Amino acid sequence: MSGFLNSIGRLRAPKRPPPPGVGNYYDPTSPLPIPSPSSDLLPSPETPLTKPLYLCPPFVKAALVKGSFKTIVKVPAYVDGNEWVAIGLFDFYHMLNHFYTALTDFCTIQNCPMMTAGPTLYFLWPDANRRPTAIPAPVYIDYAMTAVQKALEDESIFPTKANNGFSDTFPQSARSMYKSLFRVFAHIYHSHFEQILHLSLEAHFNSLFAHFLAFGHEFHLGRMEELMTSNGVGQGVWELREKWVEMGILEPESDR
Ligand SMILES: [Zn+2]
Repeated sequence: MSGFLNSIGRLRAPKRPPPPGVGNYYDPTSPLPIPSPSSDLLPSPETPLTKPLYLCPPFVKAALVKGSFKTIVKVPAYVDGNEWVAIGLFDFYHMLNHFYTALTDFCTIQNCPMMTAGPTLYFLWPDANRRPTAIPAPVYIDYAMTAVQKALEDESIFPTKANNGFSDTFPQSARSMYKSLFRVFAHIYHSHFEQILHLSLEAHFNSLFAHFLAFGHEFHLGRMEELMTSNGVGQGVWELREKWVEMGILEPESDR
């Protein structure tokens, strides 16, 4: 283990306070859920009359970084691939946590009673009997971010001590964490992009998400159908990703 992750290992994120009502739900410490694709469809789909703002100019191309993200996600020379992925996940978690913290007044149990990510899509979390269950977005996000934070602090997954290497299961843990972070992005775009605009954060947020998607593509951390479930095909950030591919910002998934 090099000194880099070792040094950032000391920069722990402050403990995230649970949103009101979180204590009423199952608190999982087990692996992150794989929602049942068959039950992700909303019973009464709402059909939006207009396109979401994040798919419209000028917001769809608002960015701090111009051009393709391909080169900045590559593993630098002499850096271990697992360590590069670990550092990336660590950074994405912290940056996403900052953005979400700015939105917690809006992402409430009342405003977001489900973890929506598209007009007819929401994500489920396993209940105490491991049954995929619809829970409010702030509760889902608290569980997901807490699980990622716990993993980041787990020496067996993210070794920070000299001579401790990454285990063979690290790629699996990395994919699970990536999926959780992805779904938080997906919810913010679907439900809170207007607030992102009001805070003038769209260029920062688009750049962070495009970087995150390019990173996931480079290291095979999850395909869109797995991240969005088969019910999310073409919805929400899936469509945004396709637009960014058309604009030359990202590579198509079929390239791998
Ligand atoms: Zn929300």
